[in-house]
Amino acid sequence: MIAILDATCPLRQKAEVVRFVEQRGLRVQVSELETRTLVGILGGGDEALAAELRALPGVREVRTVAPPYPLVSREHHPSATVVRVGDVEIGGDEVVVMAGPCAVEDEAQILRIARAVAASGARLLRGGAFKPRSSPYSFQGLGQEGLELLAAARAETGLAVVTEVVAPEDVELVARYADVLQVGARNMQNFRLLSAVGAQPRAVLLKRGLMATIEELLMAAEYVSSAGNPRVILCERGIRTFESATRNTLDVSAVPVLKEKTHLPVIVDPSHAAGRRELVPALARAAVAAGADGLIVEAHHAPETAASDGRQSLTLEAFDALMRDLARLAAALDRRMPRAAGITSGS
Ligand code: PEP
Ligand code: MN
Repeated sequence: MIAILDATCPLRQKAEVVRFVEQRGLRVQVSELETRTLVGILGGGDEALAAELRALPGVREVRTVAPPYPLVSREHHPSATVVRVGDVEIGGDEVVVMAGPCAVEDEAQILRIARAVAASGARLLRGGAFKPRSSPYSFQGLGQEGLELLAAARAETGLAVVTEVVAPEDVELVARYADVLQVGARNMQNFRLLSAVGAQPRAVLLKRGLMATIEELLMAAEYVSSAGNPRVILCERGIRTFESATRNTLDVSAVPVLKEKTHLPVIVDPSHAAGRRELVPALARAAVAAGADGLIVEAHHAPETAASDGRQSLTLEAFDALMRDLARLAAALDRRMPRAAGITSGS
């Protein structure tokens, strides 16, 4: 439920409305807009409350059919949220690219890939230290050692680090090393994990579940935000459909739909959507053309020997070529991309 107050409503009346709602044990979110003030009532409120609110001085309108995710909805917060990670702004004019291997394998691997993707213009380094694998027999990641290697790669290249956390009890450990905590597709509705990443200050990259609707993704983001962390970046990474020509089906339309429904930044992972590296550049371009704030892309110096997701990982040369293409596309769309040295001269 949202109460809409006149912009001219005196502070005292606004405070009165907030106190009125809080006295009934409900939490509020106040957004000051140019022409009005919105008082979002978190977790509901019934018709009787709506009628009482309508009778209060300064209340212009009460909407009872507001989205169930008030903190992340655009209705409450019409201007786009920019999530800052170091000197990188996600959700602004720049098309921000995060890149790296699916998993951290060893020091030489992560340093080599980090140097190359940095030279190609990536702004964040990705790499899993804790891997949620479909099979218990597959490589599960290096754990804390992987986090240490990511931190070493950051120290050398200056790239911020995004890495996955798979369990609430690991949040503190991962947050000690990472700049952005990734919640993977399989954990999008792990509500204890969402609350745990919401209770710490690092930005969160929240990936859409394989079978999740856009509304479920937004509700998952609401969990993180309501636990105290508004720095959430959403990621469309392909959903499961009847189609088997690709690993998943990239839901390009999720980008403009999310942009309409939420103020949070939206990025796309073309690698897990495609499942095959040949398709990754086309999906990456489609995502940027559709209005994505950025991309997260898997790249590896030797994809054929990668410990995981080699089939969908771009070679470092292919990643460099993609970045050049994206820079042209970004310019055509009035978006920015950092000028890159390229891997031949830069690494
Ligand atoms: C990953 O980023 O390597 C990953 C496991 O992604 P997802 O959760 O989207 O499958
Ligand atoms: Mn992967």
